Amino acid sequence: MDIGKNTIVSMHYRVATAEGEHVDKSEEGHPMVYLHGHGQIIPGLEAALAGRKSGDHVDAEVTAENAYGAYDAALDLQVSRDLFPEDVQKKLKPGFQFQAEHPTQAGEHVLFTVHTVEKDAVLVSGNHPLAGKSLLFTVDIVDVRPATDEELSHGHAHGPGGHHHHH
Ligand code: ZN
Repeated sequence: MDIGKNTIVSMHYRVATAEGEHVDKSEEGHPMVYLHGHGQIIPGLEAALAGRKSGDHVDAEVTAENAYGAYDAALDLQVSRDLFPEDVQKKLKPGFQFQAEHPTQAGEHVLFTVHTVEKDAVLVSGNHPLAGKSLLFTVDIVDVRPATDEELSHGHAHGPGGHHHHH
């Protein structure tokens, strides 16, 4: 069957940036499994896979806008350490994440990650590490099947490669 809304897709994939930097790939022998049409994979890849079927090989170039978004220079900030609440100041280290309002778009909340902690200043970024990058996907579709009613009500794939849980 063809990939469309409410199908369960199993696929092997590799993804690199347009500059050729390796980003991610599926595990050997363990295809990635997802419920199509529910925004579980990046929009540009989901669009490129629509209408494809089991056995198809798909090369897709996905622009940053359809992947992890454009790079936003306003989201790379140097913040004074004492602007953080005292209990948070103790936790500030590279990789620490917090939600805050977008510095120029009021009302929009952004997940920031701490990059560097200096004596008085903290360098943080609200950009995803892949923001601003076009991605090249190489996909081999292994299987396409209809989602079960249970999978649709949960909003994710079950079985090998999908979620395992008891109900
Ligand atoms: Zn479930």
